[in-house]
Amino acid sequence: MNADLEHLIILQAQDLELRRLRAELADAPIQVTAAQTARARAEVALAEANKSLSKEETLRRSQELDVKDRQGKISRLRKQMETATSAAQIAALEHEISFSEQAIATLEDEELASLERTDAFDLARGKATLTLEVTTATLAAARVRAADIATRNTATIAGIETERAALRAQIDEARLSVYDRISKAKGTGVSQAIDHKCAACQMMVRPQRWNDLTDRDPNSEYANTIFTCETCGRLLFYDPRQDAPIRWAPGEKLAAATTNS
Ligand SMILES: [Zn+2]
Repeated sequence: MNADLEHLIILQAQDLELRRLRAELADAPIQVTAAQTARARAEVALAEANKSLSKEETLRRSQELDVKDRQGKISRLRKQMETATSAAQIAALEHEISFSEQAIATLEDEELASLERTDAFDLARGKATLTLEVTTATLAAARVRAADIATRNTATIAGIETERAALRAQIDEARLSVYDRISKAKGTGVSQAIDHKCAACQMMVRPQRWNDLTDRDPNSEYANTIFTCETCGRLLFYDPRQDAPIRWAPGEKLAAATTNS
């Protein structure tokens, strides 16, 4: 295989790895922010549940006091009944007693309703407490991961950049500029030819070109030629050991590319 082509294959693996490392580096702080938002939301939910619970408690205390007041009033009215002299007086007192009894019944119903709401808020508080625990742990993990990625990826990027510069210096400038132009436009500049097709764009390679591309004779006319895909313009390479497509997915290890060259 042409030496430039071999170098370009490795260069492409380096470029894809750099892209992946940089994307991961950029994404980590976004994950931290998302975890912060989720945790803040859980905090708000917990605070709201607590606020609702204490509001219900205050309400019930005042209802209970109200009931006691009215019970006191009823016993005072009953005492007055004992000394009442006229039928009109007794009727008026009975009316007041019945009015207070109704008020007590209403207060007791309202107290029950408040207890039911309290049950629901208790459940919400339990859920919010759990969510807060989970989101707190997620945030801590996201922070550790972001710090780790910042350190690790920055160092790895620097290492690959050094290797990459040395590699580029060995490649013919015209070929390098073709690679740079296509990979900038299409994401990759080199593509494997598999089964009469360009693996990147899936278009057929014409039979004559396929024959020239796959000719392994070192003395043949095209032994040192770099063919390009007539459809996408990528530089084509052929590896006789491969009959399964190689996907140049981000994250492919440099080692894999070295093995495939
Ligand atoms: Zn193509």
